[in-house]
Amino acid sequence: MLRVTEIFRSIQGESTHAGRPCTFVRLTGCPMRCVWCDSEYTFSGGEHYSIDDILVQVEAFGCKLVEVTGGEPLAQKEAFNLIQRLCDEDYEVLIETGGYVSTADVDPRAKIILDIKCPASGEEPRNDWSNLQRLRADKDEVKFVIADEGDWTYAKRIIQENYLEARARAILISPAWGQVDLQQLADWIAASGMKIRMQLQLHKYIWGPDVKGV
Ligand code: SF4
Repeated sequence: MLRVTEIFRSIQGESTHAGRPCTFVRLTGCPMRCVWCDSEYTFSGGEHYSIDDILVQVEAFGCKLVEVTGGEPLAQKEAFNLIQRLCDEDYEVLIETGGYVSTADVDPRAKIILDIKCPASGEEPRNDWSNLQRLRADKDEVKFVIADEGDWTYAKRIIQENYLEARARAILISPAWGQVDLQQLADWIAASGMKIRMQLQLHKYIWGPDVKGV
C-alpha cells in the first residue's frame, strides 16, 4: 500500500516536459524540510491505496505521461514497485525527487528530475551525491531551486565540478517562489554562457501559488 495525497490530471508545470498533459500521483510524506517548501500539505495525512487502485485512477485520466511526485516519492519503498508497474503499462513516467533518497532502484525506463538542494533551502547537507553518478544524458534532468545569489553561485560550482552540462538532458534553474528577482535570475543565467535553462513553475502562474491539485 502507498500513502497518497492526491491523484489528478493537469499540465506538467516544470522541466522540459512543461506544458504537456500529465497525470500526477502525489505521494504523501517527505523526510526533508526545505525552508521554501511549497508542498507542506503532503507531509502528513493522505489515504492508503494499493498499486492496482492507483493504476485504475491513472488510466481513467487517459494521459500517457504520468509524474510520480510528492513530498518525496521515493521515501516510500512501495513507490519503486508503482514506478515499475506504470512503466510496464507503457506510460511515460517522470519522477520528481528531492535528491535525498537514492535513485539506484528506480526502474530505468522512468525519467528522473533530480533536485540538488542549494544552501538557502537548509537541506543542502542531505543531498545524496551518488545520484549524480546515475544521471543519463538522454533522459534525466537536474533542478536547482535558487533563493538568493549564494544559491546561484553554489549551483554554478556544482554544475561545473560534476560536468552536469554533459551528463544531464537538461539543467533547470528555478526561482524559489517570491524569493528572488526574476529579471536578476534571468540576467545571471544569460551571462553564464552555460548549457542551462531558466524555468518558471507554469502551474503557479496559471492557477496561483497556493492552489492544490493542479
Ligand atoms: S524535498 Fe520537496 S517536498 Fe520535501 S521539503 Fe523539500 S521542497 Fe518540500
